[in-house]
Amino acid sequence: EPQPSASRPLVSPVHEASSSASLAVEATHIVKHFGDLAVLHDVSLAVEEGTVTTIIGASGSGKSTLLRCMNLLERPDQGELMIADERIRFDRNPKGDIVGLDRRQIQRLRAKVTMVFQQFNLWPHLTVLGNITEAPMRVKGLSRRDATKAAEHYLARVGMLERADTYPAFLSGGQQQRVAIARALAMEPRVLLFDEPTSALDPERVSEVLAVIRSLADEGRTMLMVTHEMAFAREVSDQIIFLDEGRVGIAGTPTDVFEQTHHERCQRFVSPAA
Ligand code: ADP
Ligand code: MG
Repeated sequence: EPQPSASRPLVSPVHEASSSASLAVEATHIVKHFGDLAVLHDVSLAVEEGTVTTIIGASGSGKSTLLRCMNLLERPDQGELMIADERIRFDRNPKGDIVGLDRRQIQRLRAKVTMVFQQFNLWPHLTVLGNITEAPMRVKGLSRRDATKAAEHYLARVGMLERADTYPAFLSGGQQQRVAIARALAMEPRVLLFDEPTSALDPERVSEVLAVIRSLADEGRTMLMVTHEMAFAREVSDQIIFLDEGRVGIAGTPTDVFEQTHHERCQRFVSPAA
């Protein structure tokens, strides 16, 4: 076994696996319209196992739509998705219906690719614990006992175990979002999606949620995130994608995108004062 040298930092086993370039997500030529409105034109991207990719871009550029295509909350009109070992080709049959998906495949994929939303989306009539055990019991068929054990593990992970019996309405936004992250983790997904996870929070609550996301990145989770927290994106991301009116404007390392880009609109977006 190779010994870590003093000059090379230790990498986690998960990151080591990523150096063999196994892809957790590959989207190819994704096209999406809402009626007459073309939202995604021809989007291709790849996310390596164990890495963090952040999508940035102006409001309305298609970031949420792209993320929602990744767990089929939106269905692309055209293109191909390879995600968590599922490969799906989207196309239209002669009647114009979008084909290429069966219900079982959607269910399998949703269990492997879980999403954290801007507005938390916790069920108000369920306790914190109930919010987390629901999907693992219903979708994965876990017993209540096993689902509770897993829920307690992930609640401890986000620092919310002592609020397990509380209803969401009695929690701050930051606490609700940490519960939502525990809920996403409890499905033990291959890929975690975050759509502006801190945009609905009071400023003093943002850092507690970013700290949780940072710790997930540090443990080598595969994540695809949309955020306007530029400093954070730069710090935790392996890859940044600038989405420009439904097209990939530029994709690269944080240094590529924040410092060395010659893409004019991206430059203006990341450093508006310059
Ligand atoms: P972003 O997340 O980058 O702000 P979105 O993906 O939410 O962008 O939206 C991209 C465009 O698609 C916007 O013009 C938006 O109004 C439109 N859009 C998003 N969702 C829908 C929908 N369900 N029906 C119709 N138009 C939509
Ligand atoms: Mg959005």
